[in-house]
Amino acid sequence: MSILVVLNWKMHPASQKEAQSLFAATRQYTEKVKDIHVIVAPPVVYLGKLRSAYKGKKISFAVQSARADAVGAFTGSTSMTQAQNVGAHYAIIGHAERRAEGETNDDTRREVAAAYALGMTPILCIGEKTRSGENEHFAFIREQLRIGCTDVPATKIANIIIAYEPVWAIGATKPMAPHEMHEMAVFIRKTLHELYGPRAMNASILYGGSIDDSSAPAMLKLGDVKGLLIGRASVDQAALKTLVESITNS
Ligand code: PEP
Repeated sequence: MSILVVLNWKMHPASQKEAQSLFAATRQYTEKVKDIHVIVAPPVVYLGKLRSAYKGKKISFAVQSARADAVGAFTGSTSMTQAQNVGAHYAIIGHAERRAEGETNDDTRREVAAAYALGMTPILCIGEKTRSGENEHFAFIREQLRIGCTDVPATKIANIIIAYEPVWAIGATKPMAPHEMHEMAVFIRKTLHELYGPRAMNASILYGGSIDDSSAPAMLKLGDVKGLLIGRASVDQAALKTLVESITNS
């Protein structure tokens, strides 16, 4: 089973030329690695050109954020339909940075449904902002999952990708500990099982938040995850190279 690595470029890099060079490096580092599947999520302005120039199979493309509405009077937005049209097969939904800009659980529900309706694979991001020690993050995560997945047909739940990204570990100095991720993976599976039955046990779970070459192997080995969602290390060619090497050698 291959490891899934989602590379979220966020609002990087500054030019099409740099995007092409970052993509070429990503391709070079990952092309020969067996057992990983890479999903690049570039800014949508670069997506179509990168996708149409790429003829390989190792890398797929995701949109970082898209509206559920197909078309309409939504200045500055991209729809799931438009993203698919320029080559996105995956959709990151409910990233913490989008939620911080006002995206709600109900928006994620609509976006997940839109992605499914188009035959795209949703990558639903969930994660609590803080932990107080009272374990209330479990209820918070349960609610994000329950609402985000409401419109997913039971027969399709195994296709969803859940990216657990504790907000406090995104852009931080270190990731959460692999044993803590393991606990969350068990909880996420248990919650999906309660909601959808045994089919949900096959849904893929990723971890995201401050992963680099020093933390990726342990997270993949002990975190009970199918893969990783990477922010900063995906747009720094040196960090990406060592990260991919660490995964290859783990
Ligand atoms: C993210 O923003 O989803 C993320 C994982 O970022 P970073 O790897 O930089 O913490």
